[in-house]
Amino acid sequence: MRRVYLDHAATTAVHPEVLQTMLPYLQDQFGNPSSIYSWGREAKAAIENARAQVAVLINADPSEIIFTGSGTEADNFALSGVTDALDQRGAHIITSKIEHHAILHTAEALERKGYKVTYLPVNTEGLVNPETLKEAFTEGTVLVSIMFANNEIGTIEPIAELAQITKEHGALFHTDAVQAVGNLPIDVKQLDIDLLSLSGHKIYGPKGVGALYVRRGTRIKPLLHGGAQERKLRAGTENVPGIVGLGKAAELARLELAERQTHLTELREYLIDGVLSSIDHVRLNGHRSLRLPGNTNFSFEYIEGESLLLSLDLAGIAASSGSACTSGSLEPSHVLMAIGLPHEVAHGSLRLTIGRENTKEDIDYLLSVLPNIVKRLRSMSPLAPKGGLSHVQ
Ligand SMILES: *Cc1c(COP(=O)(O)O)cnc(C)c1O
Repeated sequence: MRRVYLDHAATTAVHPEVLQTMLPYLQDQFGNPSSIYSWGREAKAAIENARAQVAVLINADPSEIIFTGSGTEADNFALSGVTDALDQRGAHIITSKIEHHAILHTAEALERKGYKVTYLPVNTEGLVNPETLKEAFTEGTVLVSIMFANNEIGTIEPIAELAQITKEHGALFHTDAVQAVGNLPIDVKQLDIDLLSLSGHKIYGPKGVGALYVRRGTRIKPLLHGGAQERKLRAGTENVPGIVGLGKAAELARLELAERQTHLTELREYLIDGVLSSIDHVRLNGHRSLRLPGNTNFSFEYIEGESLLLSLDLAGIAASSGSACTSGSLEPSHVLMAIGLPHEVAHGSLRLTIGRENTKEDIDYLLSVLPNIVKRLRSMSPLAPKGGLSHVQ
């Protein structure tokens, strides 16, 4: 049976060139980067090479890149580290209602420590309104954290404008760019961003490695204490193979960015047109054009996203119902709630995210099975209106 992976927002396959670059560091080049003999020096040099590769992808200086154990850790580090360093200045941060749980749950932990957090709403397309941000500042606002692009509905936020407003109010600006890096051009200098999170496994690199960009001069306290690694900001012996893999993945993302964007956008439009023209009572969630190149997210009325996932899995297709982190729970996705979907519509949502190795044949295969699955599930659904539904076919 054909197998088609359409869940690239959850994770991606390691690029073959990334794997080749990593292998020596899992074998002969096993030295500890803190050791002074040749094994150590070689590992250290490999890390610094990776740091430069990550830096150039987002137009940062290598000294501004701190490697972490994941995108989640980079998000935790940004919020906890900045609020910790600036606790004399104020205890208010601003974020949005549609952030990844790595941000939302860190913000909630800060609230339990006495911080005040404003969660900005979004419109029906998932956009934060810059005017709403302006109104949210208080005397003690130290940090604004708004994601670059949403992992569920793919909406790209007006980051340049949000960062500029934040500057005008004297606070620091962080963005969770885990989904945007490698998919969109990002220039931290031009955008005036102070902190940015990214992750290896979302950009065809390995799992368990990420990075936080921290603009030179930004005050931040460490999350982990121990050795002097990563400028004493992230203690612990470095994940050398992981970091080397992230570096290579960043380099490939930079070299292939234009090509990937074109390829993914073409397949995305083909998929969206195919679904909307062959299935009734379906809506596309997120913004029509301010959208990640590989993201699609639909709500199918009268069915459950979970049963859709199971049927697609039986057909060899990997997809997600809204967010990998919320699947398995009955709570509807906080993102779909924030864009104003009624519960029952949010429950019928399906995220299909395209990656570099997908082909038009993959999308054709999806389009050959999805309408029938939807039709069959609706015919069994107690939610469907009596008398059945018309199907465009
Ligand atoms: C995947 C993801 C994360 C978490 O990154 P990990 O490396 O898996 O911890 C954070 N934010 C967004 C937007 C993501 O998509």
